[in-house]
Amino acid sequence: MWRHPASARWGAGLLDLLLPPACAGCGRATDLPLCDPCRRALAWIPTLACASCQMRAPLPGADCCGRCAPRPSPLDACTAACWFEDVAASWVRDYKYAEGGPAKAGVDRARMRALALALCERAPAEEPEWVIPIPLHRRRLRTRGFNPACGVARVIARERSLRLAPVALQRVRDTPSQTRLDRRRRGRNVRGAFRAPRPVPAHVWLVDDVVTTGATLEAAARALRRAGARRIVALCLARTPTEEGSQSLGSALAAPPLPTDSAITSRSRAVSTGFLKITPSRPSTRLRLMT
Ligand SMILES: [Zn+2]
Ligand SMILES: [Zn+2]
Repeated sequence: MWRHPASARWGAGLLDLLLPPACAGCGRATDLPLCDPCRRALAWIPTLACASCQMRAPLPGADCCGRCAPRPSPLDACTAACWFEDVAASWVRDYKYAEGGPAKAGVDRARMRALALALCERAPAEEPEWVIPIPLHRRRLRTRGFNPACGVARVIARERSLRLAPVALQRVRDTPSQTRLDRRRRGRNVRGAFRAPRPVPAHVWLVDDVVTTGATLEAAARALRRAGARRIVALCLARTPTEEGSQSLGSALAAPPLPTDSAITSRSRAVSTGFLKITPSRPSTRLRLMT
């Protein structure tokens, strides 16, 4: 359900009097995590995309596209809510790097939470035993002060009443940043970087903020499989798009037109916004899923 987390509803009557619920994007009063214009300004990934790469349409009758289906992966699925661009990219970056001072940090966390709640909508109905964030190496954790993936995992675990397992996975190698590396080098960079010190349950969700090639998530998933996991679903706030992949996805998945009224409150209506991309300031030519 597209709504504020359960924890936020506790004592909501009194709190609403003091602090009326507001859109995380613009601060306008609303009972939803994001108001209609802010929701429309985000580049949502179509919910019917390939369950693994989200870049192409799945093969008929299958979950994955023709490129992912034959490629063995330690992940059973990898779902992100938004493309890592425009508004979503700046929200995720602001939350991760938290450079705006304490006042801005509250806004950044609220925006992350709004994206994480949208991600919850897309998470499978079948729930895992544990929700596990991708860990930072302890040296990087000391520098940054917090693990962004753990914040996202905490929202998901609370919203779905699941067990958060923040230390189920350890980062045993402090790997250089993946930002400028291609897929092959990213895979090599994170090989053996993770370890699960104790056995883990059979079904887990693995949470990160941004997925690009999936190399980090796959390295973490291999460590979890060695520790006993059998079903691993990765959940991320945003996915870095590739030009080729999202173009073919755009032409393959035509979206039905959305109803025109703006009162979106039900689960089905909220999910249907996953087909929508509207960037009012800069019309996109890349992803043709607009209504
Ligand atoms: Zn708003
Ligand atoms: Zn695919």
